[in-house]
Amino acid sequence: MGLDDDAREYHRTDPPGKIEISTTKPTNTQRDLSLAYSPGVAAPCRDIADDEEYAYEYTAKGNLVGVVSNGSAVLGLGDIGAQASKPVMEGKGVLFKRFADIDVFDIELDQATAEEIITSVSAMEPTFGGVNLEDIKAPECFEIEERLREEMDIPVFHDDQHGTAIISGAALVNAADIADKELDELDIVFSGAGASAIATARFYVSLGARKENITMCDSSGIITQERADAGDVNEFKREFARDVPAGGLDEAMKDADVFVGLSIGGLVDEEMVQSMAADPIIFAMANPDPEIPYEDAKAARDDTVIMATGRSDYPNQVNNVLGFPFIFRGALDARATEINEEMKVAAARALADLAREDVPDAVVKAYGDQPLQFGSEYIIPKPLDPRVLFEVSPAVAEAAMESGAARKELDLEAYTEGLEA
Ligand code: NAP
Ligand code: MG
Repeated sequence: MGLDDDAREYHRTDPPGKIEISTTKPTNTQRDLSLAYSPGVAAPCRDIADDEEYAYEYTAKGNLVGVVSNGSAVLGLGDIGAQASKPVMEGKGVLFKRFADIDVFDIELDQATAEEIITSVSAMEPTFGGVNLEDIKAPECFEIEERLREEMDIPVFHDDQHGTAIISGAALVNAADIADKELDELDIVFSGAGASAIATARFYVSLGARKENITMCDSSGIITQERADAGDVNEFKREFARDVPAGGLDEAMKDADVFVGLSIGGLVDEEMVQSMAADPIIFAMANPDPEIPYEDAKAARDDTVIMATGRSDYPNQVNNVLGFPFIFRGALDARATEINEEMKVAAARALADLAREDVPDAVVKAYGDQPLQFGSEYIIPKPLDPRVLFEVSPAVAEAAMESGAARKELDLEAYTEGLEA
């Protein structure tokens, strides 16, 4: 059987789907039921009515994330609609649970406009400790997230934007170090100006790259000031418009230090890689086919090409699962009101630092005994590395406390030890 049939079987096996709800308290006696529901439940209700913070003490809110989508930009499948996106959202729930023991309600909304989605999601604030927006298409995703962040007092995080930004940001910090280049001197070219590219470019600036050194290309070529002035691009692309001559990706890539591909497969050839600066950094992250195949990018030059892709069958996979479970873990545990820039930067730096540590044998074994040592073929940790939880979540919680986003003060040492339990 191929992967498709295996996947159908995996999902279909009784009970259908991949998740279920289970209870966490005794339900054996009449007394238990009177505590779980009426009349006992009235006491915690009254306390919460007096002070909403009690919701974190008496309900599952504090460990519950809403994974919300309208199915408008699902994986590489496009606008398949809310119902068809449900396997993906349930799958996201599986990853939250498996990697950070966070519970998820997947919420598929049959709504298309930003306004409708904002109204629906903000009305669900009482249910959740946090909201992970998922697979909502650009440019609506930017407004939806921005408005929900303003309106809601719990973390709202669009993973397609920030997950990619944070994981590839960690990779960039280490790649620059290996190439012996400073972040603020990197000449960076983006192929793609959608949800992930805009967020990633913004995040690289937070990490120390300079906005004026970023050139962004969409399907019509370089986003120039001229195109922006002509009203040819949306407000998010306009943010990265550059006062340079019109041109294509090939022009943009000449002498660039970094190529960031968040577009579609096969746009880059060996000649374009050869035109880049010494020891180029190439993050070709279009899925399933990168902007240039790993082998071609490596073969194009004699110096060190530091390459990352979205694929698990090559080194340096930029996999969002390195981020969202652990970032939400830290944010929920600090009872953060948001996931702010400081928390995202802390997550990226924790990942970058972890990649410099020796890798435990068990992790090396899990990846087929390929050597994993800090260098051009290993710039970010592996998703199955159990240390990621203990590095990223405390770093995010600490940044939440330092930036004023935390509603709860944690003793970080005790917190980190508790994570191990
Ligand atoms: P998106 O919002 O649809 O953006 C896609 C962008 O690609 C658009 O700006 C589009 O240009 C541009 N594009 C399309 N054809 C192009 C061409 N021929 N030349 C130059 N640019 C072109 O999608 P997204 O969510 O940002 O994702 C983009 C890609 O990155 C997908 O392949 C996705 O799988 C991948 N991705 C990978 C990871 C990962 O590896 N961890 C994470 C996120 C995304 P227009 O704006 O002109 O239409
Ligand atoms: Mg997604």
